[in-house]
Amino acid sequence: MDDAPRFALDESDNPHDECGVVGVHLPQATDSDAAQVAFYGLYALQHRGQESAGIAASDGRTLRNFTNVGLVSNAFRQEDLERLPGHIAVGHTRYSTTGSSSALNAQPILAQGPGGEIALAHNGNIVNAEEMRQRLLEWGVSTTTGTDSEVIAHLLAWAPGETWGERTAYLMKSIKGAYSLVVATKDTTIGIRDPHGVRPLCLGRFSNGGWIIASESAALDHIGAQFVREVDPGETVVIDRDGLVSVPNPLPQERIAHCVFEHIYFARPDSTLDGRLVHMSRTRMGAALAKEHPVEADVVISIPESANSAAVGYARASGIPFELGLVKNRYVGRTFIEPDQRFRDLGVRNKFNPLPEVLAGKRVVVVDDSIVRGTTTPRIVQLLKRAGAAEIHVRVCAPPIKNPCHFGVDMATKDEFIASGRTVDEIREIIGADSLGYLSTEALHDAVGGDSTGSRFCDACFTGNYPIPIQLQMDKLSLERTLTQGE
Ligand code: SF4
Repeated sequence: MDDAPRFALDESDNPHDECGVVGVHLPQATDSDAAQVAFYGLYALQHRGQESAGIAASDGRTLRNFTNVGLVSNAFRQEDLERLPGHIAVGHTRYSTTGSSSALNAQPILAQGPGGEIALAHNGNIVNAEEMRQRLLEWGVSTTTGTDSEVIAHLLAWAPGETWGERTAYLMKSIKGAYSLVVATKDTTIGIRDPHGVRPLCLGRFSNGGWIIASESAALDHIGAQFVREVDPGETVVIDRDGLVSVPNPLPQERIAHCVFEHIYFARPDSTLDGRLVHMSRTRMGAALAKEHPVEADVVISIPESANSAAVGYARASGIPFELGLVKNRYVGRTFIEPDQRFRDLGVRNKFNPLPEVLAGKRVVVVDDSIVRGTTTPRIVQLLKRAGAAEIHVRVCAPPIKNPCHFGVDMATKDEFIASGRTVDEIREIIGADSLGYLSTEALHDAVGGDSTGSRFCDACFTGNYPIPIQLQMDKLSLERTLTQGE
């Protein structure tokens, strides 16, 4: 358990979002407000992390950094951004996947090495952070926070090499796991994607010749940048006053393993991943669910908002009308109040409100994106029944989750998954639904444009087939504990 207060009132039974990163490089002669642009980019990536936010910026001479806890809109005031002048900025919005959620662990992280100072923002998780921390100690470099991201920052700052391309090649040969990185030096912006391409990273262009690197293409749309392409797995892009240079993957090509959960839940429906609009992938998942798990029903509803697209797909493919059966309170935010059981029950009500006029006497198909622990689904089923639904048929546009993620997503431990050691019918009974159907792994791959063998995508949380060998059972505080124990 995290030692920080839990975000209980908004704690849905979803995997927790990971992090969002953005890097902005504007033409120096004309612009000095890259931090402002990065702010709007982070604002569009808020769904990827709500615990802290930060921006580091450079005017070509000095790197300045500002981080704070909370939502992007609360973390920065106008004067904070004004204290970050310059044409280069990198930003980060964080959900803690290693290290606790304390302000100390907010990013970007500054690291000083022989090649100068860097500011680094990371989305993902590396699996050999402890080994790399030991390497840093041998070099006489110590770390102060509990994050793998700090280890990466110091390793890159101290990496041997004459150019940033050589240094990132050294970094890639050293660290293992999932990492989409944006890095600022005082005169250069760098984007790096791990050789498996687990976490997304894309590249965009401003009409004034500037560049942006971001976790999702939706961030580009919001700030008027044109999507150029996704950063390739293993690729480094280095942007300086002379333009952009692409440094190809320095390692032998490994299995491509884009996180399939980005398509199911994390990414915004208006982002393009792997050449496909996420909304379209989700409608295909819903249509496949309708084919694999048909049912006689009167209405299809979604658990808003992440399952909206899939519910539309289910409704279209089944011919059952889509209706708004649950309304989500848009303004529910994260809270530090720890509720007792009575208030926990109220918590779901706090987030969703059913529409009895739509539900009463109806046989209802409820489309959800995933079930992790199975703590929220029974409460939603009860809520719908109390609103008068005659039958509840839950359809999930993911296969049963049985394995933890080691690549930047905080889900649960193996024992906590409701699907661990249970049949689908046992799960159905626990959640109190009349029927339950999960999307098959094959149909999932088909919906996101992979083939049925699962190549190109990581699906380890469903199959246990990790694309990167996992040497140790990790939890998100393990590195931090090692630090506090002084090992
Ligand atoms: S284990 Fe699951 S959540 Fe983690 S990277 Fe793989 S598909 Fe994504």
